[in-house]
Amino acid sequence: MSNVKGHRMGEGKIRILVIEDEPTITEFLRVGFGYEGYQVDIAEDGRTGLRMAEQGGYDVIILDIMLPDMTGFGVCRKLRVRGDDTPIIMLTALTELSDRVTGLDSGADDYVTKPFMFEELLARVRVQLRHRGKLPAQIELRSGDLLLDTETHEVTKGGKPLHLTPTEFKMLQLLMSHPRRVFSKETLLNRVWGYDYAGDTNIVEVHISHLRDKIGDRPPRLIRTVYGVGYAFHPEGADDAPSG
Ligand code: CA
Repeated sequence: MSNVKGHRMGEGKIRILVIEDEPTITEFLRVGFGYEGYQVDIAEDGRTGLRMAEQGGYDVIILDIMLPDMTGFGVCRKLRVRGDDTPIIMLTALTELSDRVTGLDSGADDYVTKPFMFEELLARVRVQLRHRGKLPAQIELRSGDLLLDTETHEVTKGGKPLHLTPTEFKMLQLLMSHPRRVFSKETLLNRVWGYDYAGDTNIVEVHISHLRDKIGDRPPRLIRTVYGVGYAFHPEGADDAPSG
């Protein structure tokens, strides 16, 4: 599998402009996209966002609707009037979801409703990048006889289908697409359950345990425990390890 991530084919990093004033969300996106290898810039109001967009070079703009100085719709229209055709994904609270948004008549390409899962937004971003030919077509993730199809969401081992819950699938996809990278339980919680999930990290251990059972993961494991830190996916298998 090629590990392209936030790097476009043969060039530099994918650049994302986030125009959003809510610190919880900007931090969540900065960390999430950072992990994916994207470069993230944040603008906390519409005017700053417009100025940064004008300087150009962004591959995707993520745009909140309720900004301190203007609405996301206004920002979007101004960009389009200028002739800026950077893909725009709007973030909207469910209560703001109206025909205006669903019709995308301000010129946005897509929208995601809050609260959202990072993987959902990432998937939308990738769709936009693929449309513009900035990412290769989606690839299946494979490790030995374990195969995960990111399009159909099918997971097979030795050709036999495994029945994963959506949470288990997301966790496995995240781990498999970042081989050997150690994910803390907090990061997994953030990435798989979302930034607004208030539960504790024990739930991560429970789901990892179920996931290991389902994929028949015995030592040396594909999903390795790094004690005191978290988990990492080792395509060749590895023993659990102390941190450091
Ligand atoms: Ca806002």
